[in-house]
Amino acid sequence: MTSTVYFTPVTEHTPMSEIQAMSARLLDTLVQDEQIQLRPTVPLKVHFGEPKNVTFLGPEHYLGIIDYLKSHSIDSCFMETSVLYGGQRYKKELHEKTAESHGFTQLPIIFADGEAGEAYAEVEINKKHFKTFKVGRAFLGYDQIIVLSHFKGHILSGFGGAIKQLSMGFAAKGGKLAMHMGVKPHIKNRKCTQCRKCLERCAEDALHIGDGKKEKSWIDHDKCVGCGACVAICPHKAVSLFTVKSLARFIGIGNPFVEKLVEGAYAAQKGKQHIYVSFAMRIAPGCDCEGRKMKPVMKDMGIFASTDPVAIDKACHDMAAARGKKFKAGPKTFSYAEAIGLGSGSYALVEIPSQGGDASIAMSGQGAASVKF
Ligand code: SF4
Ligand code: SF4
Repeated sequence: MTSTVYFTPVTEHTPMSEIQAMSARLLDTLVQDEQIQLRPTVPLKVHFGEPKNVTFLGPEHYLGIIDYLKSHSIDSCFMETSVLYGGQRYKKELHEKTAESHGFTQLPIIFADGEAGEAYAEVEINKKHFKTFKVGRAFLGYDQIIVLSHFKGHILSGFGGAIKQLSMGFAAKGGKLAMHMGVKPHIKNRKCTQCRKCLERCAEDALHIGDGKKEKSWIDHDKCVGCGACVAICPHKAVSLFTVKSLARFIGIGNPFVEKLVEGAYAAQKGKQHIYVSFAMRIAPGCDCEGRKMKPVMKDMGIFASTDPVAIDKACHDMAAARGKKFKAGPKTFSYAEAIGLGSGSYALVEIPSQGGDASIAMSGQGAASVKF
């Protein structure tokens, strides 16, 4: 099966008003071309961004889509879940304040997993790693959600887009925990300055910081849940997820984290008719979860829309590769996602011109209108 991915190019200089108009037009084209029946209420799955992160997408990027829904008399809200680790998005109360401080005030907010992850539902999927998977319970009240994703790098999954937003973003804490189990970072003592910043982010009390002399810094792997927060926060790159052995597993066949991530996405999509809109802009090396300033690793590409989370991620990934930026773990992610029926790695990229005019089949990163990996 070949899925259609609609695409409008943008640059760093595209005015925000045009980005809003383009995203609304992309959504409308997808709805019309694929004869999608929009529901009376269609939530927007978003990411509110961690404080100090400067590359997350603010609500201004979504105003075109919000206005589009309003103009069609469709109710909406922002939906999100809280994260596994410490910081300002760990529980609903803090997360709400973060959302508000980042300007997400246009719609009501629903935290799908309750106050701190306790409101979950088990979705039966019967896959290799998970028989059931815990998603935020409130998601199950909607059979159509617009999944708004930011395409960029990610410390664990190689890149983050629609699949990661579906998986990690819809998972309740128990689901996130199940995905991360087995990822255990290490502290490189020659790089650790004993600044203790990592301690602020570890909710598991797993980090032990030495004195820089006799006493070494180390991580208690019996307590560590592998959330990756200490890796992201360490300003001296002293915490590494990878030993030589684990790196081989990460890039090689049988990467369990990537497969678990894909299975989580399968659970979030199962029986639903979600719509995916991905913004490949401010393409940072790391996730919007990381509370640090990052510089984009490549120029903005554009906005993508599809009903297929695999096709849309592959289109973003291929275009980035064609422009010289290869994000890790792509082939493994796409082949496993297709194997378990999450979507199709074969897609046709249809370019919707930014200033109106006729749509055309765009050349993909692999030089063909329809690409099969
Ligand atoms: S943040 Fe990094 S450098 Fe600072 S104490 Fe933790 S591991 Fe060491
Ligand atoms: S030590 Fe483990 S649980 Fe604590 S922040 Fe690091 S990865 Fe997360």
